[in-house]
Formats: sequence, C-alpha cells, structure tokens
Amino acid sequence: MKIVMAAAECVPFAKTGGLADVIGALPAKLAEYGHEVTVMMPKYGGIAEGFTAGFTLLAEIAVSFSGEQKTCAVFQYQKDQVRYLFLGNEEYYGGPEIYSQQDDGERFGFFNAAVLSVMQALELEADIIHVHDWHAAMIPFLLKEDTRFNQIGRKAKTILTIHNLQFQGKFSKALFENSFGLKESGFDEGAIDWNGDYNMLKTGILYADKITTVSPSYRDEILTAEYGEGLETVLQQRKDDLTGILNGLDTELYNPATDLSIEMEFDHTSVEGKAVNKRAAQTQMGLPVKGDVPFAVMISRLAGQKGIDVLEECLPRLLAVNEMQFILLGSGEEKSENFFRGLAEKFPRKVAAYIGFDENLAHQLYAGADIFLMPSHFEPCGLSQLISMRYGTVPVVNRTGGLKDTVTEYDVHTKTGNGFLSDFKQGSLFGDAIERALALYPEPDHWGAIKQNGMNADYSWKPSAESYEELYKELAER
Ligand code: ADP
Repeated sequence: MKIVMAAAECVPFAKTGGLADVIGALPAKLAEYGHEVTVMMPKYGGIAEGFTAGFTLLAEIAVSFSGEQKTCAVFQYQKDQVRYLFLGNEEYYGGPEIYSQQDDGERFGFFNAAVLSVMQALELEADIIHVHDWHAAMIPFLLKEDTRFNQIGRKAKTILTIHNLQFQGKFSKALFENSFGLKESGFDEGAIDWNGDYNMLKTGILYADKITTVSPSYRDEILTAEYGEGLETVLQQRKDDLTGILNGLDTELYNPATDLSIEMEFDHTSVEGKAVNKRAAQTQMGLPVKGDVPFAVMISRLAGQKGIDVLEECLPRLLAVNEMQFILLGSGEEKSENFFRGLAEKFPRKVAAYIGFDENLAHQLYAGADIFLMPSHFEPCGLSQLISMRYGTVPVVNRTGGLKDTVTEYDVHTKTGNGFLSDFKQGSLFGDAIERALALYPEPDHWGAIKQNGMNADYSWKPSAESYEELYKELAER
C-alpha cells in the first residue's frame, strides 16, 4: 500500500513527547512490511544541521492559504526505507520552536493545506493518509470538502490517530474561513462549529474514515464525560469506527544493550551494568554515589495531566522518612518547575532537578534508575513506562489509559507483575504504591524478578504495526 503520514513531530528531527516517538518508529516498521511510506512534517528552523545537510530540495510549490499564494519548499530525506518530506515556509516554521502560542492555528492550518497541495503537485498517490493529532486533523475534511483535492480524496482513505485528546486546536471560526477560503455555513451543521469556535480535532473526528487512540483503555475512557474533554458525544457518534491500538517502542533506539548515550550497556542477562549507570547518573546530577539506596526518577512534560500535584502531596513526606533519591528531568508549567527546584533545595543530598529537555540525560536516567514515577491523571498510552521497563527500571504508575494496559502490580506469591499501581478513582494512593516499591527494593529475589518481568516483555512495534496494517487493509477494501 501507499501510505502518507502527516504529523507535527518525528524522532529524530523534532520532538516534545511521545507523538514524535511514534512517528519515528511506525513508518519504518510499515516500510519493512513492504509498504511505500512517506512522512510529511514541517521543516522547523530547529531541526539539527546534521539532518538538514542531507535534505534535497525537491520542489517549491504555491499553496493557496489565507487568501494568498504562499510558498512551500519541499525537502526530501530518506531513512530506513521511509521517505520524509519536510514542508518549509519561513513565515510559519522559520523559528526553532515546534509549537508557539500565538499563531499555531495558522501555522498548522497551513500544514494541512500544504500536505495536500504537495501531494497534488508531486502527483503523490496514497491508498491511506494517516494523520496524527489536531495539527493534521483538517486533512480528512479538506480531502472531502475542498474541490481542489477531490481527486486524491476519491482514492485515499483517512485515519486520524488521537495521541492526546486534551490538545484539540481550538480557534475562531473567522480563522477557519480565512485560512481555507471556505464559508463555515456551507457545511453540515456542527461540522466546523464547536461552541461558537472552530475545533480542528473535532472536525477530523467527524471526517476521518477511521479514528484510533494509542491504547485500548484510553479508547474506552474518552467515550465518557470524565475523559472525553468535551468531545465525548462526538466520539460516541463515531464509536464503531474508533479503535485503540497500543503503541510500541522503537526497540533499537531504546536498547540498553546497544545504547551509546549511557555509561555502560547491559541487557537482561547482565543487569550489573545498571549499577554502573546508577553511579554515573548520581555523579552527573551531583547526588551522593550510593549503590544501595533506591533511586527514583521522573522524566516528563510538566503538565497537569502528569500528576505533579500528586507528587507534591506525597514526595516531601516520603523523602523525609526514607533513605532514597529522586531526580526530575522535565520542563513545562512554572509552578511545577518551582516545586521540583524547591524540593532539590530542601533535600540537597536526596533530590536533583534538571529543568529542560535532554535526550541523552533521559537515556542515562532510564538506565541508571531503580524506579520510574508516573502518577498521570490520564495517559493516552505513555511511552516512558515502556522505556523504563526495557531498561530494568520499575514503574510506579496510576491505573489509567495505556498505563493500565501495560503495567501490572507485582505479586510476591507468584512473582508476576512488572510494577506498582495506584488507583485514584478507588482511593488507592500513589504514595502507598511508592512505599510498596521501596519495601521490596532491599529484597534482591523480588526486585530482580520485577526487573526481569519488565525487561523480558516484548514492547516492539510488531503487534501494533500489524494492527495498523489490518486497519489499512480493511479500509482500502471498502
Ligand atoms: P507524552 O507524549 O504525553 O509527553 P509519553 O510518555 O508518551 O508522554 O512520551 C514522553 C517521551 O518524551 C518519552 O520518550 C520521554 O523520555 C520523553 N521526554 C519527556 N520529557 C523529557 C525531557 N525533559 N527530556 C528528555 N526526554 C523527555
């Protein structure tokens, strides 16, 4: 099949979170199965020169957008049998940032129009156009409703994957009309309108042939008012076309046996390597180097979703009474950044915080830590807990979404299970789950079993890619 993917982020070019990990791995797996895959994303000014030096300018095309003909420079890059097309426009993507607050409605509106204009100009055929999150969610709409793209739309079927329902791309209807030169009133009632605004994700949900979420549990959760972020009724309307496919991991990128960014490679047969990585992480972050002290980490966007409030509630108390260490790597909301800075000041020999985004440090911490904390209030899939388990780091998570689908409570009798869970809805506390982990840490028999259970599981993209492949086939045959 000929598959085109459109997304705002992709490893290794531009990343803020798990979306980038998925776009960096799934296309290569599909290409391995013999499909012809093209990934389209904006050419941000922040993409490292090491990559842009290898870009080839294929074409410069005009994209009709916002009442003007805007230039889109199309750069090609080939990797792992996947063709990447980077869409360049200085006005929108010249700066280093992936997302900026002010004009994202226009920046990503342009991306949607540009993807289809490029496909048309390059005569790029597709059986499947797979779009990700709100940044690309208007593509299914434009294919059906903008006569310029009807020809592509006649052949291509569309899939919209929701990586996080909280981000919907809500803007004014005036922006919609201005961006695409279409009148909102020209469409079915509610196709565009969302409480008086325009909501890119909602329109995508209505227009895509199929919709997927990144875990089965999150698929069920978002049909409820509690997790539906206001879109539950729209999702219920599309329930029969909504499925959950669990994300995999790029098991080459996240492979402790070959990872060059960690101090010492290791695998499930030689977990002593973890001790070396633990010392390296403690040294790098300025904490006392102690092999026998349980060492917990969190690597995360600092957003409400991630449950920093939960840590505020339990971590100071646990740190005060337990011999343990904690390192935070993350950035985001200022109040959360300040909380972790404050914690490091209060417990200088137990806590360190690195406020920022650092891929290499992330790998070193996954490799060196004993425990990974993830108290998310909701979690569409979550990759961090999977990466942790692959590196022999035991996850402590809240039972929600993809966390519920991937982490199971360790049972001391059967020695099954790969982590520890709280369940906020049932009143089971995250602090208690951390304490259960701390209690088993000094017991090598059990701790070794938990680590092994995590490291020996299969987190590869194989089952997930096969599920997507099945979905594509089903659609293509429609
Ligand atoms: P989300 O997509 O909601 O941010 P995921 O768990 O799905 O959460 O994916 C997060 C990804 O981003 C993981 O690969 C994680 O290691 C990485 N990450 C998050 N914050 C940082 C950071 N500050 N530095 C480096 N990597 C980070």
